[in-house]
Amino acid sequence: MASRTGIALGSNLGNRLANLREARDRLVGLMPPETTFLQSSVYQSEPVGCPSNSPDFYNAVIEIDYVGQPHDLLQATQGIEWHIGRTATAERNAPRLIDLDILYFDQHVMDGDILTLPHPGLIYRRFVLRPLTDIRPHLILPGDETTVGEHFRQLDSDEPELRLVQTVW
Ligand code: ADP
Ligand code: MG
Repeated sequence: MASRTGIALGSNLGNRLANLREARDRLVGLMPPETTFLQSSVYQSEPVGCPSNSPDFYNAVIEIDYVGQPHDLLQATQGIEWHIGRTATAERNAPRLIDLDILYFDQHVMDGDILTLPHPGLIYRRFVLRPLTDIRPHLILPGDETTVGEHFRQLDSDEPELRLVQTVW
């Protein structure tokens, strides 16, 4: 049985659009045949909590079918990050070629050392809520009572509006 899982993609180094595309293609490549995925538009966002002079991010969210456990998917997303060329860095939130965060995995709720689901930052981040609202405005996350679209409308954040980069990518 496949699970539906949402994944946030972010890049603020190198060819950002190409990095998002490669990550998207590799994630879609994990899916069983004959299944469909959803993808948001690509947005540009100013870095939040990053070292000064960090480049802007390109952000998107996709939802795929995945056969396996959440930790298997985390291994797969980390493998894709390494493949695209992310390297370990001592500096927190340093510019990165690609960052893949698992936002939700069906109804799974967990709070572990390695994996927290749903992703704890999800409902506080414009650069996640905006693209997720594109594809799943009516989604209610496990443990929540409010839809993703409502969280986006209620967002109380100093982050500036995101800039739409492109809808088709
Ligand atoms: P960040 O995403 O906060 O910028 P990293 O990408 O370096 O930082 O992730 C740090 C760690 O977060 C990963 O090694 C992973 O084990 C952990 N983690 C916990 N929950 C999740 C999740 N839902 N999706 C992705 N990584 C997660
Ligand atoms: Mg991450």
